[in-house]
Amino acid sequence: MSETNLRLVWIYPDLLSTYGDQGNVLVTERRARQRGLAVQRVDVRSDQPLPTSGDIYLIGGGEDRPQRLAAERLLRDGGLTRAVDNGAIVFSVCAGYQILGQEFVNDLNQPQPGLGLLDVVSTRGEAERCVGDVLGDVDSKLNLPQLTGFENHQGITHLGPTARPLAHVRLGNGNGTGDGTEGAWNGTVFGTYMHGPVLARNPLIADHLLKLALDVNALPPVEERWYEALRGERIAAATQSA
Ligand code: GLN
Repeated sequence: MSETNLRLVWIYPDLLSTYGDQGNVLVTERRARQRGLAVQRVDVRSDQPLPTSGDIYLIGGGEDRPQRLAAERLLRDGGLTRAVDNGAIVFSVCAGYQILGQEFVNDLNQPQPGLGLLDVVSTRGEAERCVGDVLGDVDSKLNLPQLTGFENHQGITHLGPTARPLAHVRLGNGNGTGDGTEGAWNGTVFGTYMHGPVLARNPLIADHLLKLALDVNALPPVEERWYEALRGERIAAATQSA
């Protein structure tokens, strides 16, 4: 990363930005500024080339057709894979998560190649759509508090040997395979089914992305505490509806 500037890239807001996923960019930007970092936010529409010089790339969820188009364009562009090869960080949600995997089933009911940045394969779930609040214990290697979010997906995701689950659910479906896993990660690439937006509910995950980008083990604490009230409210609602 350059000394003065953190580059956040918001991928294809015209195709993938459902359920307030743009909030993930806002939260990451805010948490960085609160640490005195100069942030440059770059929104890249699907008809534009993806810059390869970003530090953190964020990609949201979307409906099935926009998801197909986004995957085609990202694969053709190739920029995200080059950025990851150069050490960039990627945080993806739902349709974006499926696109980062090896393959998913698209709106035409066809298997479609993803970018292969995560060792996961998504298929269309036969059971009811997974909708509702989710609570999960984050992979202990990441040392993060309980994950809270909201899921809404038909696809289910199977993890291959090199993908670690981001969390294990206490409530909700997560990856939807029945094994209790939610999301996946490997190195600097993260995927989750959680909307919410997930980084507003779990800002310490945004901090984790910043630490990776800055290559530090700790960040100065921020005084802001509003997110704890939001977390408390959502965790209580999820627990009640269980
Ligand atoms: N279309 C995908 C699915 O239903 C992703 C949905 C989403 O991004 N919310 O699995």
